[in-house]
Amino acid sequence: MKKVSVIGSLNMDVILEVEHFPLEGQSIFARNSSLACGGKGGNAAVALGKLGVETVFTGCIGEDDYGRKIQQNLESAGVVTKLQVLSDVSTGVAYVILESNSNNRIIVVPGANEAMSVDMIREIAPEVIGEANVVLIQLEINRDCIREIVAQCRKRSVTLVVDAGPIRGVTMEDLRGATCVSPNETELEALAGRELKTREDVVNAARSLLDYDVEFVVVKRGSDGAIFVDKTRVMEQPAFPVVAVDTTAAGDSFMAGLCAAILRGESMEEALIFANKCGAIAVTRKGASPSTPSAEDIENFEMFLRGETE
Ligand code: ADP
Repeated sequence: MKKVSVIGSLNMDVILEVEHFPLEGQSIFARNSSLACGGKGGNAAVALGKLGVETVFTGCIGEDDYGRKIQQNLESAGVVTKLQVLSDVSTGVAYVILESNSNNRIIVVPGANEAMSVDMIREIAPEVIGEANVVLIQLEINRDCIREIVAQCRKRSVTLVVDAGPIRGVTMEDLRGATCVSPNETELEALAGRELKTREDVVNAARSLLDYDVEFVVVKRGSDGAIFVDKTRVMEQPAFPVVAVDTTAAGDSFMAGLCAAILRGESMEEALIFANKCGAIAVTRKGASPSTPSAEDIENFEMFLRGETE
């Protein structure tokens, strides 16, 4: 069976629901606190597993409860884990403070995610990259590792899909030769180095990324859907009309859908529709990996959409 290999970040999201963010020196009570497995890499891998795609995840955790919970979460979605468990650093944590007006403030402690090394990538490459049909990465791992994964995928002629977020100083030069680069509009502005005001600006900026030996670019545009650009075509797919409750993991779910469709050899039009369905489902649910879509959600999509638009 064909498989996707995700190499990326894992976090435990600690979510605090508060009325207002505390002022300096103020103590407040939260209405609720909860834990959810997150990290862009982990979310995409869980979504792929739930969509029924054979998925291998490579990443780093600490030797702690959060790490064990995250591993269980990946495995219960059917993902094969290749985790480096580190004794001298903790699992990554994202502290998410959600205000009642839906604004959020997030502080990330990258922890074990930062410990991923170029040596580790070189060691796992023959199996984890060489035996994959599609490799998916995000930019939550360090820049040297990103560059090494791009080089390894090129060397082995493996399809590499890059979710271009968060930018953190990564440039298109670092991503030269990737098969697909997929930024949201803010990330596209940073990668192209220009402000985007109109749809034409978005298309032209996406086109400029093709100069870096990239086969195609897919721009995620939130409630405006997605735009695909390659050397000869521009294709736009509107988003599905749903009521957005929480956009966490929308992009990660979209990327999982895109990779699943590429793996199945679907046309780019079908792939964009499928990825938009995955993103739409995620925004109707709270949390990171718990909000990702499953194969069953996709099967029942028409019914789900009727419920959303009634
Ligand atoms: P990111 O989370 O990386 O910023 P986006 O917010 O653009 O990415 O969302 C990714 C995808 O999720 C979009 O391309 C779209 O398919 C879907 N999506 C996001 N927001 C909405 C929305 N409000 N309604 C429907 N679909 C959405």
